[in-house]
Amino acid sequence: MNAANAPMVIIGAGHSGGRAAMTLRAEGYEGPLLLIGDEVHPPYERPPLSKGILQGATDLAGCTFCDAAQLAEAGIEHLVGNPVARLAAQDHQLVLQDGRALLYSKLLLATGGRARRLPMAPAALANVLYLRTHDEALALRDQLQPGARLLVVGGGFIGLEVAATARLLGCAVTLVEAGPRLAGRALPAQISDRLLALHRERGVDVRLDVGLERLLGSPQVDAVELTDGQRIACDLVVVGIGMQPNTELAAAAGLEVGQGIRVDDQLRASAPDIYAAGDVCEFRLHPAGEYQRQETWRNAEAQGRHAALNMLGAGLPFAVIPGFWSDQYDWSLQTTGVLAGSLHTVSRSTAGDGLLMFYLDAEQRLQGACGWGPGNSVAKDIKLCERLITAGPVLRTDALADPGQPLKQWLRG
Ligand code: NAP
Repeated sequence: MNAANAPMVIIGAGHSGGRAAMTLRAEGYEGPLLLIGDEVHPPYERPPLSKGILQGATDLAGCTFCDAAQLAEAGIEHLVGNPVARLAAQDHQLVLQDGRALLYSKLLLATGGRARRLPMAPAALANVLYLRTHDEALALRDQLQPGARLLVVGGGFIGLEVAATARLLGCAVTLVEAGPRLAGRALPAQISDRLLALHRERGVDVRLDVGLERLLGSPQVDAVELTDGQRIACDLVVVGIGMQPNTELAAAAGLEVGQGIRVDDQLRASAPDIYAAGDVCEFRLHPAGEYQRQETWRNAEAQGRHAALNMLGAGLPFAVIPGFWSDQYDWSLQTTGVLAGSLHTVSRSTAGDGLLMFYLDAEQRLQGACGWGPGNSVAKDIKLCERLITAGPVLRTDALADPGQPLKQWLRG
């Protein structure tokens, strides 16, 4: 066999890798296709892990878009328990952990990331938990018993969604965030403030501007000491302090790696016939823009699909309006577009004490929006904002701030 008629291989059987595999088949690729994963499960989507799975309201089947039977039916070989140990990019060759070497015609790196570990607790501790995988979510679910005292480290999306779910399950929750506000990197201060108010109102003891100094107790942690000297007793610690992209394989192979695996506008990495997609992919949204990674459902979905099309020769530049959502209690957050680096921001009140924030460029065109409201109330406005970003009309800030002015008016004509 030579590389040209070797299988297409996808390393990483998460959302992005799984979507790429299914797209290759849907688009007519009939050759051999190998999907190599770390987890025993078929590809699944992660958003329910911190909500429905923890509550027992959904199960793995509810998060999976291609179960084992569908993979088999599509002729996708799903390899688990034998990860890739080495990539020889110039030879189009992979070496698996058991020593087996195989050639690929096209390769997609969708290796995702892993939860950042607490630096003071490198070894596994039974009641210090992380949440990145389905099995980790099940382990956490077992421990979220009514009355359990939970200490959450990190006020990002994992920490906040776990805190909300744990309160719904009757746990006592303290959340410790090292920064001055919740989800501070991703969200504007006005929305961070709303999040803080909601969590406090629902009984979470939120501590800002304070980090974790050390874990106390052995073999189980029974308290933590914070950097301000306070001690908090707990039965369980959940850590959500960010993720680390799995770039090691690519870096060892000599591919260009920054904060992630660097790709060009077609999601091609720096060696022939290799692509990257999903959380691990570092790309530019515009040719002159900064390299970035996006750790979102939307990006995993869009890049997985897009990389597959380009592996089949479409040659399409990747372009997507970024966005993410988070559900906490009976409220939800949604964003679209780019929130950073905007020249003007405008906010308007929405139904049920919600808030919608608009981000405008120098010419008063919309470049991003962020909404926070009860139930699914912000979804419609965010959809309209996405259309406004695409259409690009010049907007008036006073009209945008006025809840009586329908967003649709700027889409007419
Ligand atoms: P994250 O959103 O990056 O948030 C981590 C938070 O922990 C940050 O606010 C960080 O503060 C804080 N932190 C870091 N070290 C700390 C320490 N020692 N003590 C206290 N706080 C500390 O990461 P994540 O919540 O772990 O989520 C992991 C990934 O899953 C992210 O990509 C996230 O977007 C994704 N996710 C998304 C959703 C969603 O879209 N709904 C839901 C769950 C997870 P600094 O920023 O100041 O470092």
